[in-house]
Amino acid sequence: MTDAPGAGAANSARSCIYLDHSATSWPKPPEVVDAVVNAMTACGANPGRGAYSMALAAARLVFESRRACADLLGVPDARDLAFVSGCTEACNLMLKGLLVPGDRVVVSSMEHNAVSRPLHVLSLGGVRVDIVQADATGTVHAGDVERAVRAHATRAVICQHASNVTGAIQPIGDIADIAHENGALMLVDGAQAAGHMNVDLAALDVDAYAVSGHKGLLGPQGVGLLYLRPGLDVAELLQGGTGGGSSEEESQPQGRPERYEAGTPNTPGIAGLGAGARLWLAHGEEWRAQEQRIFRGLKEGMSAIPGVTVFGPASDEPCVPTLSLVSDRMDCDRIAFLLDRRYGIAVRSGLHCAPWAHRTIGTLETGAVRFGVGYGSTSDDVAAAIAALTELLA
Ligand code: PLP
Repeated sequence: MTDAPGAGAANSARSCIYLDHSATSWPKPPEVVDAVVNAMTACGANPGRGAYSMALAAARLVFESRRACADLLGVPDARDLAFVSGCTEACNLMLKGLLVPGDRVVVSSMEHNAVSRPLHVLSLGGVRVDIVQADATGTVHAGDVERAVRAHATRAVICQHASNVTGAIQPIGDIADIAHENGALMLVDGAQAAGHMNVDLAALDVDAYAVSGHKGLLGPQGVGLLYLRPGLDVAELLQGGTGGGSSEEESQPQGRPERYEAGTPNTPGIAGLGAGARLWLAHGEEWRAQEQRIFRGLKEGMSAIPGVTVFGPASDEPCVPTLSLVSDRMDCDRIAFLLDRRYGIAVRSGLHCAPWAHRTIGTLETGAVRFGVGYGSTSDDVAAAIAALTELLA
């Protein structure tokens, strides 16, 4: 097999060469689509809200999806994983549920708006936010985090696992050790890591880890996960019905995961995410190797185009399959526009909801064109993108 998973059947119906996997994976595997449809048809009742057969089947489906996600992410007790609407909600929950006025946090300069915007709101309420600068490839250095953490009492260190702009993988294990040695919590935005990387939360020893369901994990949009270390008391963002504990009247049940899952769950999304997790459990090693091989070809080919600057770690360094580039011959928005209109290649230009990251790598003014490969990507896609950009910039 020379191409990424899904390069066959799923792609025969493709309407474009899709290289925007860092935004969301597409096409979704047939197993994911089938699971979503099943959750809306045969299992369409509300899970945990009735004892009739279809409600029980829906509850089982949610249970099994949570178990599959826990197995994939190395979480021993699946109840420590809460289903949420996406990584944005997960980041808001871990930050707003933990931080209080007077706390000081250390955060990397590569963070997405899903982290920087809630932190801004918290800073207005009296949380002090100190930023640690990453290098020009977007990599955060543990020594810099250590210096920042030691400078003042720190409640939490917040860092992404991988960059949605340069693909850099951050040394989360080392940073978590530094946080814990200095009495701070370690909170991680794992949006770009899960799926593309083998994430083992037990080994990483972090306190909270936010996951997007619709990117590398191949689920539908509108679903994600938040892992919380056992015993960590995080205030819930929402109060409401959980299908149980109604005799407690006003108080939100404090058990996991129901404390964080008020309201009718996104059962189709959860079912699709579970199917994606099962695919990664079955094929992870092979699929990741293929993604990496295809991505290396992309990075090397793009780097060789005259006048193009590719940001991120060197092509033989570990990274998730995302890169950003600029050209000295054409504006980024125009490149993305022409790649789409002339060549049918879908990529995103701009700041990718990460102005901090673009400031870090020096592209805040210009933005960049981002390419991401994943499930369904082929080496032919990559070759077509390299040929198209070469022709556009000739
Ligand atoms: N964090 C990073 C690094 C991301 O790339 C994204 C999505 O682009 C998010 C957070 C937000 O994820 P979601 O779309 O699941 O809310």
